[in-house]
Amino acid sequence: MRAKKMDKPNQGIKCIVNTCEYYMRGDHCCADMIEVQPQNASASQDTDCATFMPQGR
Ligand code: SF4
Repeated sequence: MRAKKMDKPNQGIKCIVNTCEYYMRGDHCCADMIEVQPQNASASQDTDCATFMPQGR
């Protein structure tokens, strides 16, 4: 499911991925939801945001 881009930050998320379409200055994410993968991860560095989309899409 594609996330909706909001005009304000999603207050529950801090993100530093400044190449993402949903990134907002100040390390915010303006997606209305995010999906994090994968299943059965064993450490935080094994996980990532599946909602990421390159800027300009
Ligand atoms: S969609 Fe994911 S990668 Fe993109 S700004 Fe939000 S949390 Fe970061």
